[in-house]
Amino acid sequence: MSQMQENKLSTFDISGFQGDLIGWYSNEKRDLPWRLNRDPYRVWISEIMLQQTRVDTVIPFYNRFMEKFPTIQALADADEQEVLKAWEGLGYYSRARNLQTAAREVVALHEGKMPSVPKLLGALKGIGPYTKGAILSIAFGQPEPAVDGNVMRVLSRILEIDEDIALPKTRKTFEALVRALISHEDPSSFNQGLMELGALICTPQSPMCLFCPVQQHCRAFHTGRQLELPVKSKAKKKKTIRYAALLIHNSDGKVLIEKRPQTGLLAGLWQFPMIEMGVKGETLEGKAAKELGIGLEVGDKAGVLKHVFTHLIWEIDIFNAITTVAEPASERMRFVTMEEMEERPFPVSHQKMMPYLSREQ
Ligand code: SF4
Repeated sequence: MSQMQENKLSTFDISGFQGDLIGWYSNEKRDLPWRLNRDPYRVWISEIMLQQTRVDTVIPFYNRFMEKFPTIQALADADEQEVLKAWEGLGYYSRARNLQTAAREVVALHEGKMPSVPKLLGALKGIGPYTKGAILSIAFGQPEPAVDGNVMRVLSRILEIDEDIALPKTRKTFEALVRALISHEDPSSFNQGLMELGALICTPQSPMCLFCPVQQHCRAFHTGRQLELPVKSKAKKKKTIRYAALLIHNSDGKVLIEKRPQTGLLAGLWQFPMIEMGVKGETLEGKAAKELGIGLEVGDKAGVLKHVFTHLIWEIDIFNAITTVAEPASERMRFVTMEEMEERPFPVSHQKMMPYLSREQ
C-alpha cells in the first residue's frame, strides 16, 4: 500500500465503517431477483448485465434470460443467435457472446461449475477484475475487492481521494483500499453495501448526505467537497458517422436484411443495410448498387434517428426503397418476411427503424 493510502486509512474507523455500512445494507437492500440466493451463475449473469445498464432495465431481461438458460450447461449448449436474441435491447452485445464463450469454458475445463479460485475465474472470457471480485465476494464469501465507477465515486468521497477515476491505473488504488477496508466476516454484504450506497444514496449528481448511513465517516461531507469528488477527466469527443439505412422491399413483400460481421461492433446481429454518407456527387442509388450489388429505387426520407455508443455516434437517415431483385448476391444478406425478421436479433437502433417499414410496397 502506498504512503498516501496508509495516511488515508491511519485515522479511519474501519470497523465502525464496516458495521454502519453492513447494518444499513442488511436493512435497506432492494429485493432484486439475483439476490434470491448465492448461486455463482446467477451472480455472474446479473453482474454482466448490470455493467453500463440500470437495475430497472436489467430485471426483466435477467428473469427472461434465467428462464431460457437456467444453468451454465444450458447457456453453453444454446445457439449463439438464441443468446443474442435473449440479449436484444440490452446493448453491448459482446457481453452476451463472451458469456456464452465463458460458459463453454466452464463446461470444458471445470465440469460445469464456476471456479472459486481467483486466477481460474479471472481467466474466463469477459470476466474482468470487477466481475471477478463481485462473484468471489458475493457467491463465495471471499474478501476480494469489486471496484467499478460507483465504488470509486463513493470511496473518493468517503476518504477524500483526488485521483482521477477516469484513468485505468486509479482502479488499483481503490482495490488496495477495499482490501484494507473489507469485512472478512461478511465480504458479500460489504461489497454489495458499497454498490447499493452508490446506487441509492451517494449518487453522482446529488448525494443524499443527510440520509447517509456512513455520513459520520465521510471526509468529503465534513469538508463540504462531496460535489467536487470524484475527480473525473472528460472523455474524448465521440466520432459521428452519418448513414443512410435502407428498408428495401422486393416484389414478394419481403425486406432485405444483412448480418453484421462476426467481430467488431454489434457482431453477429442483423440489420437493415446501411450506406455511409458523406461522399459528394454520388447518389444513394449509385452507392447502394456498388455496395449491396442490387439496383434500387429509393423513396423519400421516412425518418431520422441518432444512436449513441460509448465512443461513437450514428446519425441515420431512413429510407424505404424497392428492388426487382429476388435474391441478394451476398451470403450474409437475405429477404425475409416480418415473422422471420422477428426471430432474429437486431440492435436497438435497427429495431427502432421497424415502424418506418412501408407497408405499401
Ligand atoms: S455523506 Fe454524502 S458524500 Fe459521503 S458517502 Fe454519504 S452520501 Fe456520499
